[in-house]
Amino acid sequence: MNKIGHYINGKHVAGTGKRLGDVYNPAAGAIQAQITMATADEASAAIAAAQAAFPAWSATPALRRARILFKFKALLDEHANDLAKAISLEHGKTISDARGEVTRGIEVVEFACGAPHLLKGDFNDQVGTGIDTYSMHQPLGVVAGITPFNFPVMVPLWMIPMALATGNTFVLKPSEKTPSASLILADLLAEAGLPAGVFNLVNGDKEAVDVLLTDKRVQAISFVGSTPIAEYIYSTGTKNGKRVQALGGAKNHLVVMPDADLDQVTDALIGAGYGSAGERCMAISVAVTVGDVADKLVEKLKEKVKTITINQGLNEKADMGPLVTPQHFEKVKSYVDLGVTEGAKLVIDGRGYSHKGHEKGFFLAPCLFDHVTKDMRIYKEEIFGPVLAVVRAKTFEEALQLVNNHEFGNGTAIFTRDGEAAREFTSRVQVGMVGVNVAIPVPIAFHSFGGWKRSLFGDHHIYGMEGIRFYTRLKTTTSRWPASNKRMGSEFVMPTMK
Ligand code: NAD
Repeated sequence: MNKIGHYINGKHVAGTGKRLGDVYNPAAGAIQAQITMATADEASAAIAAAQAAFPAWSATPALRRARILFKFKALLDEHANDLAKAISLEHGKTISDARGEVTRGIEVVEFACGAPHLLKGDFNDQVGTGIDTYSMHQPLGVVAGITPFNFPVMVPLWMIPMALATGNTFVLKPSEKTPSASLILADLLAEAGLPAGVFNLVNGDKEAVDVLLTDKRVQAISFVGSTPIAEYIYSTGTKNGKRVQALGGAKNHLVVMPDADLDQVTDALIGAGYGSAGERCMAISVAVTVGDVADKLVEKLKEKVKTITINQGLNEKADMGPLVTPQHFEKVKSYVDLGVTEGAKLVIDGRGYSHKGHEKGFFLAPCLFDHVTKDMRIYKEEIFGPVLAVVRAKTFEEALQLVNNHEFGNGTAIFTRDGEAAREFTSRVQVGMVGVNVAIPVPIAFHSFGGWKRSLFGDHHIYGMEGIRFYTRLKTTTSRWPASNKRMGSEFVMPTMK
């Protein structure tokens, strides 16, 4: 059995831990590798390597750091297919979707290549007589990233290029379910010329994470994953004096106004609801119909679902693959059972699907619930699978309140031809990322990504200018160069600029 270890101080190292984690091939329904869960000592060794590399890396001119990222970007382009294959084999998502994920990650590297410009400070001369003031953004030190299973390349790339471009050194703790792609990232960073120790990676679970959260040498934590863990990371990290951004789970609503083009809405819901088998934090899991469009929409969805091609992820024609692990498959399936018990109408039942040639795979076909209500658990909780719920609202106001009263506030969308309704929605909705006739409004790299409410703990969204701010602190210098023979005298009052 292939054993997956760590990457510390520029070298791949076999894990010494006794605990192993299974990595599945979800389409085959079989274990294909095992990770050796990092011990506390291994996590500490990764931090020590990053700490040792920090003085030289932070003193490297931003332009030279950016040049390494330019090379990294070119290598990512060259190896995009290898990365996509590694993602698909462990996650189960389709190879085309995995390529899309790699592209979205590369966009953040492209943005981070502009670090010399983005790090420019402010300067004012003559703020007082002979006095100048300037401010600059300085790196924090060792920073850590803890990432989820569902974007094994894109989410680490939301963090790594931003942290490195700004002069920090990095320890990544990827998901134990999809570990291989990030080890390819480690090799590509080294090939691009990144000095040893600047980027380190430990595979593991809570044992390694808890070291990152409590070790005094770690200055900041970026986390992406489920809400209960995000909350734990935020409270533990901040209690230990760290800067933390912790992005959590989601239940994204798409509001369908009566004037919307229902064919466009149907296409959007099919892609955003069932793409990546619903294992996206920006997936649409709730369609809120306004007025009387629900019956027509549900009929269209029923027809369109039949056109979805389910297959193992490496099949180029597949629209949707299996779920990631047997545990996750059981969890999602149990939510479908629950929805039936709660009284929602299961219009399309994907349970019992078996894929020919992959009978042991974790395949769940699309499921569609109608007449879902706000008190049901299938409405309130994140399912993270190919399960779409239709909730019927009488008015725009009722639809907006549904979105605003939900625990999560990651993404949302409105489909309409009415500019006034769209404007009202974008202005009043309590959600971090909003789409107008765009179902999955993941911001481009030069904007920033982040939800509201219990979808994000912390003050900063991720990447873009928010990434620059998160990974740097401001230093402001006030300077005067008086002639050597000029005495200033002692000042006993609060200095004011004269
Ligand atoms: P998860 O919370 O189970 O795991 C995320 C990371 O936390 C992993 O690296 C895992 O090893 C670690 N972890 C898990 N339990 C831990 C514990 N008790 N203590 C310390 N560390 C722990 O999430 P997942 O199942 O890998 O990913 C799916 C979730 O991530 C969904 O909820 C999804 O909405 C969310 N997600 C959010 C975003 C976003 O941008 N908001 C993006 C992608 C995924």
